[in-house]
Amino acid sequence: MSIYLDSNATTQVHTEVVEAMLPFLTSHFHNPSSGYGAGQAVKAAIATAREQVASLIGASPSEIVFTGCGTESNNMAIKSLAREIGRANSKVVVSEIEHSAVLRPTEAMAAVGFEVQRVGVKEDGRLDLDALEEAIDNTCPGFLSLMWANNETGVIQPVAEAAAAALKAGWFVHTDAIQAVGKIPVNVKDAPVDFLSISGHKFHAPKGVGVLYIREDTPFEPMIRGGGQEDGRRSGTENVAYIAGLGKAAEIMESELKNGGIAAVGALRDQLEKILCDRLKGVHLNGSREHRTTNVAHVSFDGCVASQMLPKLDAAGVQCSAGSACMTGKSKPSHVQKAMGFSDERAFSSLRLSLSIFSTEDEVKQAAEKIVAVVNEVRGLN
Ligand code: PLP
Repeated sequence: MSIYLDSNATTQVHTEVVEAMLPFLTSHFHNPSSGYGAGQAVKAAIATAREQVASLIGASPSEIVFTGCGTESNNMAIKSLAREIGRANSKVVVSEIEHSAVLRPTEAMAAVGFEVQRVGVKEDGRLDLDALEEAIDNTCPGFLSLMWANNETGVIQPVAEAAAAALKAGWFVHTDAIQAVGKIPVNVKDAPVDFLSISGHKFHAPKGVGVLYIREDTPFEPMIRGGGQEDGRRSGTENVAYIAGLGKAAEIMESELKNGGIAAVGALRDQLEKILCDRLKGVHLNGSREHRTTNVAHVSFDGCVASQMLPKLDAAGVQCSAGSACMTGKSKPSHVQKAMGFSDERAFSSLRLSLSIFSTEDEVKQAAEKIVAVVNEVRGLN
């Protein structure tokens, strides 16, 4: 069995999540909009899931909208905000290290005449708050989209401070919290954001289900119109099984956050990094040590190229990635690492090793040994 160290790409669906989903794929197949008892029972399951997600992020259930994936959640927020601020005399600010699910829709806005500015990060991968303050223009309407945690490095962004600066200017704020929710405490009471995106498959729910948190009173223009499901904010017959699964996963992660399960993931990650640093020279741990999710080690190995390491690691039974899954196979260095000021050489020599609550100490030790062997082998080749 291979050792899975790519939990930022996706996670294994939790067995309790599968159990929570099964009734809605079998006996409880009814349409939640049907008025008879069986339909209403299915509708109740969606309400339960809404409460479970709301509880995980400190929101009200009415602020939770189920979507088809994290990418959809980001697009819903950005497209609604674009309409709200209007194209003329407005401004949009995003960070340079956003996921393509924020960069592409804001590029599309720029292509039709919106002013869109990207703000950089410091070497530790955290947003440059001074540059953000300069970019925010309080003379025009606008919005800020800043991710909560970066998908490649795990570095946690100063969302509360950045959102406060944007709100002072009367701007709206969206945060892509897809790599944060379920991995670290995320509470909308601590950060005054209007929109927050979540994706189920990053925390043990299946792929193809997400959430958009929309703060009460924040204006919202639906992207998908139709039968008026999700209080008119996202039409389409609800994917009940996946929604129930996402709710269950939210409940599990809330308890993992409280009972030390997430902290234990951090201890394993630290152990992995320690073995690599003790056993090898020329190892760089990238990104802020202080502000990062507990599950990610982002590591560069001098004299190595990730594209040489990855197939050897795969053959040795370690599944991990270079930068982000979306970058795999691309010959350009990661835009995140370039924004952090890394040379191409350092960017190409980086691995992202991402753990989950399913990772074990034995796996971490074995994976570390295999990585050490592959690094030594690749260094011998070069
Ligand atoms: N945003 C971030 C930060 C991500 O890591 C991902 C997934 O890799 C997405 C957005 C897209 O989410 P989904 O795969 O649910 O569309």
